[in-house]
Amino acid sequence: MMLPTHVLAGMLLAAPLVRAAPELAPVGFAAGFLGGLLPDLDMYTGHRRTLHYPVYYSVLAMPAALAALLSPSAVTVGVAFLLLGAALHSVADMYGGGLELRPWEGNSDRAVYDHHRERWIPPRRGVRYDGAVEDLALSVGLSVPLLVLVDPPLRAVVIGTLAIAVVYTALRRRLAEIAAAVIPLLPSAFDPYLPERYR
Ligand SMILES: [Zn+2]
Repeated sequence: MMLPTHVLAGMLLAAPLVRAAPELAPVGFAAGFLGGLLPDLDMYTGHRRTLHYPVYYSVLAMPAALAALLSPSAVTVGVAFLLLGAALHSVADMYGGGLELRPWEGNSDRAVYDHHRERWIPPRRGVRYDGAVEDLALSVGLSVPLLVLVDPPLRAVVIGTLAIAVVYTALRRRLAEIAAAVIPLLPSAFDPYLPERYR
């Protein structure tokens, strides 16, 4: 799934706060957004491995969620939704496409790395690839309730994220072709810095 879908899903995790603890809801939405973003900061260094922890984020999220329930504060709620967002992202990547330059071809057996079992989890392709039309449908579906639930500063974040999702979906295949055309022209000194899927 593309990054906009992950950050919107992370935000929506905090929806129950609107009723349960409205004063903490903005913190929860922001933390869920950042949690959904965090794993993909490894985009250019060991993607879906360095910062993707489908097992460990989930395990850590449980005591963090319990702490937020027992002693709700900006800190406990922030930490809990950061971990929940990162856990959901890492697990959700299993249901997308594999790690390859053109994931719609379906040649990769690597979706996300499981550090616990020390092996790659194969892609299940519920969403065929990041930026597929069903991925955009997910982003739209997640943003509808968010637009009702969040207040103005965060509402602009949701709308901006959705705009990025639309542009990315429209350009997704062309971006891969541009990368395929440009990479062979780069001097070999760049090799160590290129993601494995680009070689
Ligand atoms: Zn990811």
